[in-house]
Amino acid sequence: MQDWNAMHDDDFRMEVRRFIEQNYPEHLRFLTNRPPFQVIKPWLMKLAEKGWSAPHWPVEYGGMGLSPRKLLIYMDEQGRWGVARQFLGEAGTVQLGPMLISHGTPEQKKNLLPKILTYENIWCQGYSEPNAGSDLASLSMEARLEDDSFVLNGRKIWTSSGLDSTHIYLLARSDKQARKKQQGISFLLVDLAAPGVTVRGIKNISGTTEYCEITFDNVRIPISNMVGELHQGWTVSRSLMGFERINTGSPRRAEFAFKRLEALARERGLFKDAGFVDRYTELALDLADLKAVFVHFADMLCRGETLDADLSVLQLLSAETNQRITEFLLETSGELGLTVTESDSDGRVDALQPFLVMRAVTIGAGTSEIHRDIIAKRVLKLPS
Ligand SMILES: Cc1cc2nc3c(=O)[nH]c(=O)nc-3n(C[C@H](O)[C@H](O)[C@H](O)COP(=O)(O)OP(=O)(O)OC[C@H]3O[C@@H](n4cnc5c(N)ncnc54)[C@H](O)[C@@H]3O)c2cc1C
Repeated sequence: MQDWNAMHDDDFRMEVRRFIEQNYPEHLRFLTNRPPFQVIKPWLMKLAEKGWSAPHWPVEYGGMGLSPRKLLIYMDEQGRWGVARQFLGEAGTVQLGPMLISHGTPEQKKNLLPKILTYENIWCQGYSEPNAGSDLASLSMEARLEDDSFVLNGRKIWTSSGLDSTHIYLLARSDKQARKKQQGISFLLVDLAAPGVTVRGIKNISGTTEYCEITFDNVRIPISNMVGELHQGWTVSRSLMGFERINTGSPRRAEFAFKRLEALARERGLFKDAGFVDRYTELALDLADLKAVFVHFADMLCRGETLDADLSVLQLLSAETNQRITEFLLETSGELGLTVTESDSDGRVDALQPFLVMRAVTIGAGTSEIHRDIIAKRVLKLPS
């Protein structure tokens, strides 16, 4: 078994780079949208064959066991080559897997982890409900315990990749009498093929059916599908490692959008325009700030420190910098802004899709308002 952490950083980087360049399909580089499973499947299978589906999982569970430093190199090389974010796989490899590793029973680990690595099971995340998004603890989906089963009734919404998934992990209320709303919630695993489950796609602003609404009508699951203790689902769902939380703050996407902006401006002769240069320079400085903040948190991870509430600074900065750059890209593109393409690998600059896709980033991993609230209360200790 290869010990990746024993390798020199530069050698490891070259090894990852070589594998990606040799195996990642050229036509899928720098996609603006997340690709559907069938499109990205050949690449995911290559990763699975190589044993690279879950770089951050311990080796004993089929991961690469990478240290934070090596992990950042792995992520950086994927970003550099424009490898599509595998949201599909991510719910399983990035989120559920680590939760099972820390809270799952030996049977759950044995039965479920290998199928995540091979994409035999594709998981989606069922947290949000029509009346529970930012205030997730207000969720009302019911999990009624009957003998050795739970009976589920309720509705989940904005479930990414629900139509492509085979399973969902979710939070549901197992004790309606609990005193605090964070209590009485259980973390459950559900096969989407179970009787009573209905998945409906929702088309988003960029034209893809990426989100879903999933309804549960007397869906019965065995009690063995619960992860962690009964009514302790809130704690299980909060137990992500640092890597999963820093993943969304990488500056790679913003860097790529900025390069698009540069290419377009050059093509249109805009560097002679003082007004353009002024705003372009402001964005260049925003991007430099984002990179510096990312490096700060990445260094903390490498030193083995815990990432806490101040990670909201990175998530906020990343989301809003991405939006500012793509807004200016669309403005700069003038009449070309109406051209929609799937990817830019053919050399064209697509300004509309990145703009549309980036509308969601100030909502998805916590809204900007919520991150500002966290920074105010928990980092700056301002009064409520
Ligand atoms: C790209 C994307 C992918 C997603 N994928 C998933 C998924 O796979 N699974 C899943 O479960 N969910 C998913 N979601 C849902 C996401 O978690 C929620 O949209 C998010 O938590 C916000 O909740 P909401 O949409 O109900 O908005 P609300 O919480 O209703 O917020 C509406 C507005 O009110 C503001 N607001 C709310 N509370 C406060 C407050 N206390 N102070 C100040 N302002 C406040 C918000 O900032 C926002 O502007 C996804 C969303 C997006 C955009």
